[in-house]
Amino acid sequence: MIKIDEYVDIRNHCTLKIGGQFRYFTVVETQSDIQEVINFAKEKNIKIFILGGGSNLVFSSTIVDALVVKIQIKSFEIINDTDEYTDIKVGAGENWDAFVGRTVDMNLSGIEALSAIPGTVGATPVQNVGAYGQEVKDTIVSVEVLDPEAGSIKTFLNSECEFAYRDSIFKNNAKNKYIILSVTFRLSKGEHKVPDYPGVKNYFQDKGIINPTLLDIRKAIIVIRSTKLPNPVEIPNVGSFFKNPIVTTQVFYSLISSTGEKVPFFDVGGDKVKIPAGWLIESVGFKGKDFGEISVYQNNALVLVNNGQATFADIEFVRNQIIRAVKDKFGITLETEPEFV
Ligand SMILES: Cc1cc2nc3c(=O)[nH]c(=O)nc-3n(C[C@H](O)[C@H](O)[C@H](O)COP(=O)(O)OP(=O)(O)OC[C@H]3O[C@@H](n4cnc5c(N)ncnc54)[C@H](O)[C@@H]3O)c2cc1C
Repeated sequence: MIKIDEYVDIRNHCTLKIGGQFRYFTVVETQSDIQEVINFAKEKNIKIFILGGGSNLVFSSTIVDALVVKIQIKSFEIINDTDEYTDIKVGAGENWDAFVGRTVDMNLSGIEALSAIPGTVGATPVQNVGAYGQEVKDTIVSVEVLDPEAGSIKTFLNSECEFAYRDSIFKNNAKNKYIILSVTFRLSKGEHKVPDYPGVKNYFQDKGIINPTLLDIRKAIIVIRSTKLPNPVEIPNVGSFFKNPIVTTQVFYSLISSTGEKVPFFDVGGDKVKIPAGWLIESVGFKGKDFGEISVYQNNALVLVNNGQATFADIEFVRNQIIRAVKDKFGITLETEPEFV
């Protein structure tokens, strides 16, 4: 029998520590718990909202009129093991970073650069989590979901997930439609790549490490991230608040000539470039700017931090200020990365 709480303080369930109350809230640890959840929602005629670790969500300061279901389904199963790779099916409620650590210990590569990202395994396909040149889309074989409407289980193959930069079908056409139960990853036993990022290269140079192991890479990423991203347990935040805009090279070159700025970029192919949103925000003078309840993080302009008592209106105000300033100077409209609920 699951326990359903009412009027639960949202701030205890999200890393930004902003929000009012969940009308109903429950935690599920098994697939069979979910049927009870579905019955309750039907009985109350209320929608279901799925929550992982709450590290990519910005909640309103009012009541979220839903049954919020925190997924804590745990499992770890090797379903295929060859000379080249291992397929692992992982429960949606497993902690992502603990899973990454476990695969690195098994000497399997593919997700080591995604170390220290908060949240659950089940949330990673939703925004195709990525960092330091790796994205989960490159290792995901399939995503197993439950359709609460139909009461049936369905498997999305990688090709059906419509993965893109910080995006997937679960953020678009299938948004809030399925409960992700497990994700199957294919991790490699072959040679691994060292992330081609100056910070990572400098780290290994300083340490005198010539051929970094998977564990060396994991450790490097953890150290580098700790200097650029505030620990949400100490300073409430949701990581990068904005996506890095992708524009055509034509737009990019006209932007350089109109602003006269040396705008950094990464070639992403298809005649397009990605511009670091943090650089754009820094260029309009917002890095470290204190707005009272919300600040732009001093070490990383991409991160907004809650100074303690911020409300949804406070974060929305700062978001709009940043979007307007960047638009005025560069003609680019920044898009937010976390989901607003
Ligand atoms: C300090 C910090 C650093 C971060 N760094 C990165 C980074 O480098 N790269 C990156 O991509 N992200 C990053 N993030 C964002 C965030 O950690 C990831 O998006 C993470 O995958 C979210 O996991 P979660 O369990 O907290 O999901 P939540 O925030 O709880 O949910 C996110 C979305 O997924 C849905 N969801 C969650 N679980 C399920 C499920 N089982 N079934 C169906 N839908 C589900 C939710 O409904 C919601 O739409 C960072 C966040 C912080 C705070």
